Amino acid sequence: MKIQFVDLKKQFQLIEPDIRQAIDRVLEHGKFIMGPEIGRLEAELAGFVGTRHAITCASGTCALVMALMAYNVGPGDAVLTSPFTFIATAEAISLVGATPVFVDIDPRTFNLDSHRLRDAADRVLEQGRLCPVGLIPVDLFGLPADYRAIMPVAAEKGLFVLEDAAQSFGGRHYGKLTGSLGHVAATSFFPAKPLGCYGDGGAVFTDDETLAERIRSIRVHGEGQDKYHNVRVGLNGRMDSIQAATLSVKLTAFPKELDKRQGIARRYTQGLSAYVETPRIPDGLTSAWAQYSILTDRRDQVQAALQAKGIPTAVYYPKPLHLQEAYAHLGLGPGSFPVAEAVSRRILSLPMHPYLEDDEIDFIIAQVIKAVGT
Ligand SMILES: *Cc1c(COP(=O)(O)O)cnc(C)c1O
Repeated sequence: MKIQFVDLKKQFQLIEPDIRQAIDRVLEHGKFIMGPEIGRLEAELAGFVGTRHAITCASGTCALVMALMAYNVGPGDAVLTSPFTFIATAEAISLVGATPVFVDIDPRTFNLDSHRLRDAADRVLEQGRLCPVGLIPVDLFGLPADYRAIMPVAAEKGLFVLEDAAQSFGGRHYGKLTGSLGHVAATSFFPAKPLGCYGDGGAVFTDDETLAERIRSIRVHGEGQDKYHNVRVGLNGRMDSIQAATLSVKLTAFPKELDKRQGIARRYTQGLSAYVETPRIPDGLTSAWAQYSILTDRRDQVQAALQAKGIPTAVYYPKPLHLQEAYAHLGLGPGSFPVAEAVSRRILSLPMHPYLEDDEIDFIIAQVIKAVGT
């Protein structure tokens, strides 16, 4: 039994003829940049998520940066976010010259703790050095953040909400799809994300016409009526046609894959909940199950024991962002965000992809139980 953490090969084998045909079409028409595949994919993505606009781009990081640029975020601005996320979330804030202000997480959902939000925004105002302008909730591991609580606080404090849906494409929050839960959203199509392409890719989603127009302009060097009339400073943020072609094919297989992820997560939870802390999914929410992550005090031993049995695992994330060297200048030492710090010591992600077989899942469950008991 050779268990993969994420199995892209099995998926490829199932859709290979369609993928090859889609890529071939691009090779033949030769419009590698902004070919017809881009507009088609954007319509499909907007339809899937349920937003008026979907704007494809070069990566999830690029999607975050462009959304912040569209809001004119810059030096002197504070953007609130989670310290327990991939570095790209905070990096995007720093790249536009603003300052990330971290808010600790909920110990069971691993998402930003909405109860701490109002105080965090007030504290920034009291200190008077920065102006809080926005908020980036992260839908970590595929689970939507607590938008029911977040949106009213954001409205009260005048903050825009940029949903980091890089891990949560396909997740749901009271019937609405991730990507449609804030004022604007960014997702990633990095190969290992729930919906991945064969390279880098991302997208921005919004219902806001003005914002969408600005982002389309930013994506092509701040173009106005064309590429050589530049009305603002932008960048090269385009997705290429070959990635769009592959994503259109993969999107057709995606709903079934989401169902399979649900089934796998259910099987893990049934088998493991008596032995380790398993993910808690609040009522009304559905995870896209980018990761299935457990908590255990014996994390390192469990990881080593699984590795010895050929079961790959990963630690997302071993170090919260405020303790990263890149953010040492913020002067936030250990103890600043105790929940994020405690979770980072106990968390472990198990193999998760739609093509895990029942016997593989059962083997993983048995090995975890054995490892926590020894
Ligand atoms: C992957 C990821 C990103 C960045 O996406 P890329 O496509 O790799 O640039 C941003 N935020 C989170 C939470 C992610 O997991």
